[in-house]
Amino acid sequence: MPGFELFGNSERKELQDVLDNGVLMRYGFDGMRNGHWKAKALESELQKAFQVNHAQLVSSGTAAVSVALASVGVGAGDEVIMPTFTFVASFEAILMLGAIPVLVDIDDTLTLDPNAVEAEITNKTKAVMVVQMCGSMGDMDALQSICNKHGLLLIEDACQAIGGTYKNKPLGSIGDLGCFSFDFVKTITCGEGGAVITNNEQYHTHADHYSDHGHDHIGNDRGAETHPFMGYNFRISELHAAVGLAQIKRLPEFLSIQKKNFTIIREALSGIPEVTFRTVPEGGEENYGFLNFYLPDLETSRTVASKFKAEGVDACFHYYDNNWHYVRKWQHLSEQKSLFPLPVQVKQGLEQLKGKTFPASDHYIARNLSCLIKLSWSEADVKARADKMVQIIKSCI
Ligand SMILES: *Cc1c(COP(=O)(O)O)cnc(C)c1O
Repeated sequence: MPGFELFGNSERKELQDVLDNGVLMRYGFDGMRNGHWKAKALESELQKAFQVNHAQLVSSGTAAVSVALASVGVGAGDEVIMPTFTFVASFEAILMLGAIPVLVDIDDTLTLDPNAVEAEITNKTKAVMVVQMCGSMGDMDALQSICNKHGLLLIEDACQAIGGTYKNKPLGSIGDLGCFSFDFVKTITCGEGGAVITNNEQYHTHADHYSDHGHDHIGNDRGAETHPFMGYNFRISELHAAVGLAQIKRLPEFLSIQKKNFTIIREALSGIPEVTFRTVPEGGEENYGFLNFYLPDLETSRTVASKFKAEGVDACFHYYDNNWHYVRKWQHLSEQKSLFPLPVQVKQGLEQLKGKTFPASDHYIARNLSCLIKLSWSEADVKARADKMVQIIKSCI
């Protein structure tokens, strides 16, 4: 998945444009720029690639999620439903606004279980955040219809699934707002960066102002701009946007390499009857950034994961034992370890997590291995890797 594997001349050229004129900031300094507006150009590329009316670049994927939630007015005491399997950024972004993350089970798509979502809706629920994990997606029709029925917003965290589609729509463009990350290990990377996309003009205006101290961006004198509401600084720099601009143009190339490599490994593993694959919802196409499969039980998965590591099959994750992605290891959240006092509503809201277990999620995550698909492998590398994986799995079952 990581786009940095194939950095080349196009990244260098875009970056050089910025260094040549010295304007590292995305707003203002019109006269010095020689016509280079990398952040604006990347936003328009994102609009094209994801078939949406608006894109707002920000400083990270985590910032994108916070900005998306802020743009729709999520704040103190509001509940946001999110999955037990995601990156820690999901609850961080919610907590930053004083809102309450409500964790619910996943199903064998490795994303939100729509029934579990519906069961947790209360009169405080404001939004459902689906996290399109490991290159694939949730059942978007089911989630959308739950949101419609209960008057909730649907936020799509597509940080790990850029380029995937559902019923021919790009992931990220389906919910009310979608979020991307361009951090160093994502399919499209610019070091640090993120984006919020939407078709809703008002949400976009909110995201645009909120991510730059509330500036209204009217006219070309920053000092004279008004502040319709309070904001923050989640801006991206021109240096980052320049690298992102080169990378986004290469997305089709990256996706086709991922698909080719993914398919070779998947075909090899499908010869093993004990191996099953994650469910991709009907009408969905993954971005092929990860190959996810299930083994018969926790013990087998642990053994296979450690043999993979010992024998050089790198970047295959057993998230059950991983500190970053699964609720089982999020004690800092359940124990409310904060540097500063948390809002009372958040403290009360998080009480429900103490001692809570998620057996349905465990059922999937305990048996799941998630293997990163790299861009730099040669065909021989992929075939050798697939053979080795088959051999190791067979020796463990
Ligand atoms: C990477 C990631 C994020 C956060 O992105 P950063 O740019 O690292 O802040 C959020 N959600 C998911 C699912 C991610 O994988």
